[in-house]
Amino acid sequence: MSADDRKVVIITAPSGAGKTTITRFLLRRFEGRVAFSVSATTRKPRPGERDGVDYLFIGVDRFRELTRADAFLEWEMVYEDKYYGTLRSEVERIWAAGQSALLDIDVNGALSVMERHSGPTLSLFIEPPSLEELARRLSNRGTESEESLKARIEKAAWEMSFRERFHRRIVNDSLERACEETAGVVEDFLRGH
Ligand code: 5GP
Repeated sequence: MSADDRKVVIITAPSGAGKTTITRFLLRRFEGRVAFSVSATTRKPRPGERDGVDYLFIGVDRFRELTRADAFLEWEMVYEDKYYGTLRSEVERIWAAGQSALLDIDVNGALSVMERHSGPTLSLFIEPPSLEELARRLSNRGTESEESLKARIEKAAWEMSFRERFHRRIVNDSLERACEETAGVVEDFLRGH
């Protein structure tokens, strides 16, 4: 496998910007060409999430062991005491199968991968039309307490300050339009444009 075959597509965004939906859309659109890199995390599974499919759910001790063994391409404490990491073995498995790896990771993790990965990399930053709109979406979701809503919006504002560093910014004003725009950018990247 040449270095040029080790393609990585990174999707990052402030939480609530629609990143998960766009990721699922891309996986369907590029089935057989792009595969989801399953991260390891120490957070507990949510209802409906499957171990080894959505995440590899592991304990903190195991996570520490893996960091010591240099098993991660990057890892971050995304939320307080909740660790997430991209496993080298996972991206290597995807490349070995002749596919490109899709990483749905936070802003810090995305910046680390862009710095460390020497193969072709496409980084996409999905942004909400505005922070006000993001606040409205998060609050409509009804999953956040007042305090956690405030924390997420503050974090989002901080994450937005890095948006210029990514290859492409996609404004999620309409989900359908944003999905199509993203697919176009990914298609060009996969074709080597
Ligand atoms: P959630 O707990 O809602 O599934 O994910 C929380 C955040 O962690 C999301 O922004 C997600 O993209 C990010 N994330 C998931 N896996 C990884 C990973 O392997 N590394 C990093 N740095 N962030 C991750």
